[in-house]
Amino acid sequence: MAGYEVQVERDECVSAGKCVASGPGYFVFDDEELSMIAHDGTKPDDETLLRVARACPSGAIHLFADGDEVDL
Ligand code: SF4
Repeated sequence: MAGYEVQVERDECVSAGKCVASGPGYFVFDDEELSMIAHDGTKPDDETLLRVARACPSGAIHLFADGDEVDL
């Protein structure tokens, strides 16, 4: 399994930084302090991605498995 596909909706991000703290080098802040994915960073494992997505206060992190959005 290739692992979840991850999308961060910039419009939904409230810059709380939980993802950046939990997945440093993969979730990073852009110059507007909105979260984005650094594709050259090390992708966290699926268990961590689930935890990070569930902890996002604004629900900005979306996970997909085989093209279907994962229910958080
Ligand atoms: S945890 Fe959610 S709100 Fe906070 S920086 Fe990450 S995507 Fe944005």
